[in-house]
Amino acid sequence: MQYKRILLKLSGEALMGDRQYGIDPKRLAEYAEEIKSVVDKGVEVAIVIGGGNIFRGVAGASNGMDRVQGDHMGMLATVINGLALQSALEDNGVQTRLQSAIKINEVAEPFIRRRALRHLEKGRVVIFGGGTGNPYFTTDSAAVLRAIEINADVILKGTRVDGIYNDDPEKNKEATKFDHISFDDVLKQGLKVMDTTAFTLSQENELPIIVFDMNKTGNLLKVVSGERIGTKVNL
Ligand code: UDP
Repeated sequence: MQYKRILLKLSGEALMGDRQYGIDPKRLAEYAEEIKSVVDKGVEVAIVIGGGNIFRGVAGASNGMDRVQGDHMGMLATVINGLALQSALEDNGVQTRLQSAIKINEVAEPFIRRRALRHLEKGRVVIFGGGTGNPYFTTDSAAVLRAIEINADVILKGTRVDGIYNDDPEKNKEATKFDHISFDDVLKQGLKVMDTTAFTLSQENELPIIVFDMNKTGNLLKVVSGERIGTKVNL
């Protein structure tokens, strides 16, 4: 395996499958199997999960809700997704711990870095819920932050497209994919990989990001074993 410790970022929307809202049990089970395949290889896996399939603070604010209130709802949504993923992984015999950035002690451990590291060393999958614990941030920022904190080798951003293109491949058939691109070129070309806060944090800490198609069976294992799929962003 090329990477020993990974931070996998999954968006909340990815859990919807073909639905418009919520969690698709089939998709959840598929993801659990993908994750198990890399855990079985001895890779240490931490996961940050989004909440967009349930609630986004920005969406609440655009309907007149106080933004901070909405962001609190979004953060709780990520905990719900974390619980769902935890359950699916444990159904597959994978040991897990859910750590939340907001205290919710009856359902998840609080985020404690040293404890998270210990779990990883013991081969448990650590799911980080609650984002960064602060409004006005995203779970992409949480993913980069946690990845740096736990010294992950790489951030794997699992999406429904197979990498970074010079234009939106779902709209422009001529769009071409990068196998590899530098942080600077992503910024220069105005490409969207993560929000700016998250992206800059990754760049400043020289933490590579690989964007890949998480919905294709076997892809996660391929990426972790160093196969050149998706797009890698580094210095
Ligand atoms: N959120 C937040 N602080 C964080 C992370 C998330 O307030 O550190 C809230 C925010 O409202 C966000 C929602 O949680 O819209 C869900 O997270 P995100 O939009 O990143 O989920 P994804 O797009 O990955 O599904």
